Amino acid sequence: MRTGSDYENSLGNRKVYINGEVVTDVTKSPYFKGIIDTLKKMYDYSSDPKNQMQFKTPWGTTGNRTFMIPHDLNGLNERHQAIAKWAEMSMGFVGRSPDHVGSFFAGFASNPAVFDRGAKPFSENVIRHYRRLVDSDIYLSYSIIPPQVDRSKKAHELPDSHIQVSLVEERQDGIVVRGSQMLGTGAAVADELFVSCIPPLGEGDENYALSFVVPIGARGLKLYCRPPYGFYRTSVFDYPMSTRFDESDAIVVFDDVFIPWSDVFVFRDVKLLQAQFFETPAHIYGNNQAQIRLAVKLRFIAGLAAKVAKMNGTDRIQGVLERLGELASISSMVEGMCIASEASGSKREYGAFVPNPRYLYGPMGLQAEIYPRAVGILKELSGAGVLQLPSTFMEIENPETREDMERYVGSSSADTVSRIKLFRLVWDIIGSEFAGRHLQYEMFYAGAPYVSRMYAYRNFDYNSAMADVERFMQEYDLHTSI
Ligand SMILES: Cc1cc2nc3c(=O)[nH]c(=O)nc-3n(C[C@H](O)[C@H](O)[C@H](O)COP(=O)(O)OP(=O)(O)OC[C@H]3O[C@@H](n4cnc5c(N)ncnc54)[C@H](O)[C@@H]3O)c2cc1C
Repeated sequence: MRTGSDYENSLGNRKVYINGEVVTDVTKSPYFKGIIDTLKKMYDYSSDPKNQMQFKTPWGTTGNRTFMIPHDLNGLNERHQAIAKWAEMSMGFVGRSPDHVGSFFAGFASNPAVFDRGAKPFSENVIRHYRRLVDSDIYLSYSIIPPQVDRSKKAHELPDSHIQVSLVEERQDGIVVRGSQMLGTGAAVADELFVSCIPPLGEGDENYALSFVVPIGARGLKLYCRPPYGFYRTSVFDYPMSTRFDESDAIVVFDDVFIPWSDVFVFRDVKLLQAQFFETPAHIYGNNQAQIRLAVKLRFIAGLAAKVAKMNGTDRIQGVLERLGELASISSMVEGMCIASEASGSKREYGAFVPNPRYLYGPMGLQAEIYPRAVGILKELSGAGVLQLPSTFMEIENPETREDMERYVGSSSADTVSRIKLFRLVWDIIGSEFAGRHLQYEMFYAGAPYVSRMYAYRNFDYNSAMADVERFMQEYDLHTSI
C-alpha cells in the first residue's frame, strides 16, 4: 500500500491560486506543508500491516480498510476501527481525509447497476474507478455543490449558462465541461476530484446533471484557495491545529476541461444524479465515515474541557461539572448513535451491509446546534485564559521574560509550559481562524442545516410514529369511562 513518500512523490503539477501566486507543485509550497506532512503520516500508518488498516480485496490485492465494502456487521466494525484510527491522527480535525470520498466510491461500487439506468451504461466505469482507488490508494476530494450565485434560480435560469459546471460539448471520445463548483476541501493536495451535483436539479438542467472523475492536474482545471491558516504561524506549539491540519478549501473552476467517457459516471440525467447518492449506500457510507470522525473530535473537545477545568482548579464546582456533563451527553450521543446505526444495519439486496440511516441521519440533523454548543462550553470553561498567554513560545525561552511567564502564566497544578501548551491548543479550537472554519465546516459539510434536518426527517419513519399515535387514540373515545 501507498506510503507517505509515495503519496508526496505522486502529487503532480496542478494550478492552485493562493495569496496572489500560482502554485503548481504543492509539495514545495509552505501553504500546504502542514497538511501534506499529516497526510504522509496517515499513509505511513495505513501502509504498515501492524496497524491493521488493510484488507484483502475480492480480486486478490491489498487495500485500505476504510475503502472496503462491508458484507456483514463484522466488516462494518472493521471499517469503523480503521476510520477511527485515521481520525485519531488529527483528533477528527481533518474532515476530508481520503476515506471520506473513498467511502462514497465504496458505496457507488456496492450497487453499480444504478449507473446503467441512464442513456449510456456506466457501471463498468464505476467499478474500474473503485478498484483503481483501492489498488493505488488514491486520494479523491469532491466538489458537489454549485457556487452561491443566486439560489433562487435553477442552474439553466442564470443569465450565464456556464456558472455551474456544465456540458459544453459532447464528443466521440468524451465530454468538455465549463463552469465552477464549490468547495473542494483538500482538492489542492488530492490526486483526483469527483465532480457532481447533490442538490436536486430539475427539468431543463440536464446539461448540469453530470458526474465524473478528473485528475487535479487536468488541463483547464483551476483551484482558487481561501487564505491558508497555518503557514505564517510561529510554531506548532503556538498553533498545533492550524499548522498541521489545515486541509484548504478551494473554488474549482473548469475552463473547458476534457473528460474521457471512461471517467464519466452520470451523463445528462437529472434523476440518476440523485440515485447515485441515495440508491447506492454512497451517502450513507460517506456520512458514516464523517460521524465516526466527529465522534473522535467531540470526545477530544470533552477531554480538553475537563483538562482546562482541572488546570484552573474549577473541576469541583457543581456548575462546571454540569457543563462537563452536557459535553459528555453530546459526545456520547454522537458516538452512541453511530454505533447504533451500525449495529442495526442491514444487508441490502445487492450484498453490502449498510448502517441504519435513521440513526445515522438523526444526530446529523442536530449537528449545526451540537458542534457550536460543544465549542461554546469549552469557551465558557476557558474564560480569558486563552488570551492571558504570551504571543509565542519565545517569551517562555527568553531569559528576560521567562520569570514573568513562570510566575503569572502558570498554574498551581502544572508547570508554565504545560499550561500555555494546553491553552494554545484550546485557542486553536475555539478562537483562531482555523477554529472558525471548523465551526462552519461541521455546520455545513453535509449540506446546510435545513438539508441535514431533511435527511433526519426522511429517514425517521414518520408513518410508523403516526400509526402509534393513531393506535393509542383508538383506545378511547367520547364515552370511555375513567
Ligand atoms: C468548510 C467547508 C468545507 C466544505 N467542503 C466541501 C467539499 O469538500 N465539497 C463540497 O462539495 N462541498 C463542500 N462544502 C460546501 C457545502 O457542501 C455547502 O456549504 C452546503 O452544501 C450548503 O450550501 P451553501 O453553503 O451554498 O449554503 P446555501 O444552500 O446557500 O444555504 C445557506 C443558508 O441559506 C438559507 N437557505 C438557503 N436555501 C434554503 C432553503 N431552501 N430552505 C431553507 N433555508 C435556506 C439557510 O439559512 C442556509 O443555511 C463545504 C462547506 C464548508 C463550510
